[in-house]
Amino acid sequence: GYRSRAAYKLKQLDDLENVIESGDTVVDLGAAPGGWLQVAAENVGPEGTVIGVDLQRIKPFDDEALNERVETVRGDMTEDRTRERVIDAAGGPVDAVVSDMAPNMSGEYSLDQARSLHLARQAFETALELLDTGGDFVVKVFQGPDVEEFRADVEEEFRYVRATSPKASRDESSEIYFVGKGRITAPVRPGD
Ligand code: SAM
Repeated sequence: GYRSRAAYKLKQLDDLENVIESGDTVVDLGAAPGGWLQVAAENVGPEGTVIGVDLQRIKPFDDEALNERVETVRGDMTEDRTRERVIDAAGGPVDAVVSDMAPNMSGEYSLDQARSLHLARQAFETALELLDTGGDFVVKVFQGPDVEEFRADVEEEFRYVRATSPKASRDESSEIYFVGKGRITAPVRPGD
């Protein structure tokens, strides 16, 4: 079984948009407790790699075959040093960056929404640092002010962007996922 109900959201997104393929290198932001990691590790197969990042520790999986494909980084994605560790772990351009990051809920929607958008923008920056040409990006954001502007920024970097709310998340009605398909330009590598 999966560690989180969220696992089914990534399954649905991937069924619709094919973001994770066999042999891929995938970076999963906000990965704890690890449901998306399980789905991603299954889909990349034995030749693939998934790097999971979270503030929280991610426990190893019972399935050794999955553990062999998964690397975890514990840290805060709003900090440069965490981003640098993720870039090191990736060791080069990656095929997909997926982010299910969400803030700790304060209960005040406007605050939670602003924090969610900030995390989504951090994920986008990381995607621009890491994604190979043609690579895909998935990001969660809570609906609200400035989300359309964020979408427009993502649209500039990908062939197309689709907004979806997977069935598995309809009861959390404020969240949507943007899927950016096919990064247009190659990343600038250190030294270029
Ligand atoms: N996709 C996960 C799964 O399937 O198990 C569930 C992710 S949960 C909805 C959101 C996660 O984002 C939390 O584990 C939280 O710790 C993480 N998160 C929030 N802010 C973060 C940050 N600044 N850096 C890294 N992770 C963060």
